[in-house]
Amino acid sequence: MSKQSFFMTNQRISADDKRIINNGRTVDCNQLVPIKYRWAWNFYLDGCANHWMPTEISMQRDIEQWKNPDAFTDDERHVIKRVLGFFATAETLVGNNLVLAVYRCVDNPECRQYLLRQAFEEAIHVHAFQYIVQSLSLDEGEMFNMYREVEAIYDKDEHAMSCTSSILDMNIEDLKTTKGLQTFIKNCVGLYVITEGIFFYGGFVTMLSFGRQNRIPGTVEQIQYILRDESIHMNFGIELINAIVDENPKIWTDEFKAEIDTFIKSAVTLEKAYIKECLPNGILGLNCDLIEEYVQYLADRRLEKLRLSAFYGSKNPFPWMSEIIDLKKEKNFFETRVTEYQTGGALEW
Ligand code: MN
Ligand code: FE
Repeated sequence: MSKQSFFMTNQRISADDKRIINNGRTVDCNQLVPIKYRWAWNFYLDGCANHWMPTEISMQRDIEQWKNPDAFTDDERHVIKRVLGFFATAETLVGNNLVLAVYRCVDNPECRQYLLRQAFEEAIHVHAFQYIVQSLSLDEGEMFNMYREVEAIYDKDEHAMSCTSSILDMNIEDLKTTKGLQTFIKNCVGLYVITEGIFFYGGFVTMLSFGRQNRIPGTVEQIQYILRDESIHMNFGIELINAIVDENPKIWTDEFKAEIDTFIKSAVTLEKAYIKECLPNGILGLNCDLIEEYVQYLADRRLEKLRLSAFYGSKNPFPWMSEIIDLKKEKNFFETRVTEYQTGGALEW
């Protein structure tokens, strides 16, 4: 990027001048107002309204249950560890991509405002898994190295990161080319649609099944907050992708659509392999077939939101999951916690 393009102009910015990407000289101080992309600002407000901290949630019952040798079967302990082990590093993977790749490329201020909020939420999710691992006295070495040591997790992480390095190597000027924009869109699909929209859901549905039996309730409550955040992340990401495509319609070629389609389907295959690794035997009325069906159902919904065709035709075997996701709209659901943030009046310096 030439130095020239960092210089500010003395002309006022109108909302019409704004674009999601490639704002060039108009970015300067990254002026938020006038807002053009109201949806991005609304996602930011929704994220703030959902604020939570892991340490607000009591882990006492989880600690008692986990210590009780009779409270879980070996298969149940195995799946809980596999899910926590995947999430323990998946959240930092997402945070890295956001800050190093997405934030760099998306120079629209409304979107960046949301990305800053999302980045903080990813830090909170990292904190949540650190807190759960510590509370249950799980083996930290095992949990935080699981992505290296369990092939099905390694493969998911590799897939998620497969297109990130090309973004990091890219010059910002490359975003003005079709190839560069396609590379960036593919990275956003890998992050928002695949990692947050498919790879997280085998874990979500398994953990929430324990919750339906009142087991590890603190861990499950943390996962519910994370699920609520993640569904906003994914919806923001899909809006972002579709908005970039609308502003640059020539990148959305049949060939590129087929590439995205294949990318999502290969993620479904990896998620199925991960589920087999987590649940070699069924538990809690869950088995691999049902979760595979669910993952295919989700993949179809994601494909449709990207304006591609549904492929699997699977039914949702867990309608209660949709109820939990939809509950985010109901105010009372998350009012069980006691919140005491340090307010301005309590500050001393
Ligand atoms: Mn997250
Ligand atoms: Fe996220």
